[in-house]
Amino acid sequence: MSRKSWVESANVAGCDFPLAHLPWGRFERADMPGAWHLGVAIGDRALDMTALADAGLCKGLDEGVRNALRQPALNAFLSLGRPAWSQTRAWMQRLLSDAEPALRDRSDRDRFVVRRDQLRMALASDVGDYTDFYASIHHATNVGSMFRPDNPLLPNWRHLPVGYHGRASTLVPSGTAVRRPFGQTSATDNGPPAFGPCRLLDYELEVGVVLGPGNTQGERIDIATARERLFGICLVNDWSARDVQKWEYVPLGPFTAKNFSTSVGSWITPIEALEPWLEPGPVRDAAAPENLPYLRWKDDFTFDLKLQVLIRSALMRERGLPAMQVSLGSYRDMYWSFAQMLTHHASTGCAMRPGDLLASGTVSGPTPESRGCLLERTWRGSEPITLPDGTQRKFLEDGDEVILRGWLDARGDAPRIGLGECSGVVLPAI
Ligand code: MN
Repeated sequence: MSRKSWVESANVAGCDFPLAHLPWGRFERADMPGAWHLGVAIGDRALDMTALADAGLCKGLDEGVRNALRQPALNAFLSLGRPAWSQTRAWMQRLLSDAEPALRDRSDRDRFVVRRDQLRMALASDVGDYTDFYASIHHATNVGSMFRPDNPLLPNWRHLPVGYHGRASTLVPSGTAVRRPFGQTSATDNGPPAFGPCRLLDYELEVGVVLGPGNTQGERIDIATARERLFGICLVNDWSARDVQKWEYVPLGPFTAKNFSTSVGSWITPIEALEPWLEPGPVRDAAAPENLPYLRWKDDFTFDLKLQVLIRSALMRERGLPAMQVSLGSYRDMYWSFAQMLTHHASTGCAMRPGDLLASGTVSGPTPESRGCLLERTWRGSEPITLPDGTQRKFLEDGDEVILRGWLDARGDAPRIGLGECSGVVLPAI
């Protein structure tokens, strides 16, 4: 099959969304207000699969798929599983390839291939549950060493993927502004506390995985079947109130420091689109203990997804200065895989459902440049960052825009693909 599309913008080198990618999203069209549609990004356009299904133009797809594409969220499609995902992906790639006239030559093709700047995006799935992990050994060691210099990594850490149950109700799509939260903080470990606007607001650069078919409550997930249940990945920013977190996290972990807003990238990259980049992993050092059998999988995988954080202050926007890169890392540096996170999550028989979101935890690598949050990047504020507007940052200020990007560099025949952006501007507390 040709790698080129008749959507010309998809053939531009360096484009996030070439024909080989086709990430899924949910959107409202400017010309069809009041309805959520499902589709995939291609160049600067989106292929509107709901409009195609409504018009009876998806006859090559199974009836179950056609029905799922007419739902207002991606969950039904996610529940169909890998054969349906794969069939749909192949069908769309054929439809969009440059030699295929079926849609290309229709006079009304703009009804089905719409400009992405005419779309209002929502989260692709209705997320029933959201769980955030802590899967980077570099992040866990850095943060641990700030608070427990003698014992940065707790004894359980290399044996299970640590996580906490997050708040699905406050997930927001990329581009949504984030209000600085109020919270309870204390200047000392022993109080007395005060209540007021968070002073140490931070971002966390993370990658999320959207789940496909779930399990019945009481049933564990065998790690060998985990791949069949992982639909795709997206960018996640787990905004964090560090001063609130420090006081409240003992003994049960993050709570209100994390529940005010979590930003999610708008386009979900199918694991199938990552295949040219999948490699055995995660790679462990010699000191790593062997994991218990339920967390071992000979076919487990990782990928060298480059991940970048940029900041643009209000002053930088006013002066027309571009956003500044504050970190650059790779997903390959993570210690725990998504398969291990899912398997451990369900190891008690916890029911996982299509559309659930698991996030990786802050992606940090071994170098200072690859630290994925300001807590680490500025080492609790002791090494501030200087922005191009001349101001310094220990933590985020009102008006700061945080932009996450992720991409996979071209490899062999596979062109570069990008996850797009996950962004948000900090609004003052009210
Ligand atoms: Mn997090």
